[in-house]
Amino acid sequence: MPGAVDQDTFDRSRRVGWLNLDAIFRTRVLMIGAGALGNEVGKCLALSGFRRVTVVDMDHVVGSNLNRCLFFTQEDARTGSKKAEVVARGIMDISPDARARAVVGRLEDLPGSFYDGFDIVLGCLDNIAARIHANSHAYHAGRPYIDGGMEGFIGRVMACLPPDGPCVQCGMNRSHAKVANMRFSCTGEGVVFHEPRLAAEITTTSIVSAVMVRECLKIASGRKDMTLRNTFYYDGQRNVAEEMEVPLDPRCPNHPPQVLQVSENHIMSGSVQ
Ligand SMILES: [Zn+2]
Repeated sequence: MPGAVDQDTFDRSRRVGWLNLDAIFRTRVLMIGAGALGNEVGKCLALSGFRRVTVVDMDHVVGSNLNRCLFFTQEDARTGSKKAEVVARGIMDISPDARARAVVGRLEDLPGSFYDGFDIVLGCLDNIAARIHANSHAYHAGRPYIDGGMEGFIGRVMACLPPDGPCVQCGMNRSHAKVANMRFSCTGEGVVFHEPRLAAEITTTSIVSAVMVRECLKIASGRKDMTLRNTFYYDGQRNVAEEMEVPLDPRCPNHPPQVLQVSENHIMSGSVQ
């Protein structure tokens, strides 16, 4: 007969000293994007103990999603199931105590106050315009924003911790800005501009999602001291993984003057953060 500890779903997590499971259970997570990255992030959130998850996505499942999306089935592709609804249901299948909610719609149509209802925002997005939008709204709401992205075997995770850290937009160059207002979609709906479809590969997606949820665990457990500062870069072809700091860009519109002053003081004193 198994002992009491083997009856407890989270016994092994409780043995990690710094994890605060009660806080993790309570943390309200907003997950934007339910594609390949959203599937993997949803899985990691559910298994890690995050129970209050809201999933936002406007798209439906298509056949080309199926080689890297845990929760999507052939039947979902045939019937055009909504990605957000399938992922929310998948989270609750893994974790019966979870209350996952799906919001089917455009990120840009959500009111700014929507972000106030969450403790952490996760960007599982495939385009720059949505990434800038989510980053800006999370930053102005004062919510930690964790952004993931992949291109083939290259992965990147950025953790933004307002009010005094850099944000995703700080790390974007001018070529990003050129396409910031152009919308594209892998299902072809509402397309005004097509970027070449990115090479997508599940092992890189798994690594990026794991790092994103790992940072969620730290933030939810009150351990911002251990959180990324602030970009994790991974190259699966060269077998390289490293942490890189993105400086706060004084031209970035998301930072009020007093934050820039603090940042400059830190730079002058040689402090990392
Ligand atoms: Zn910024």
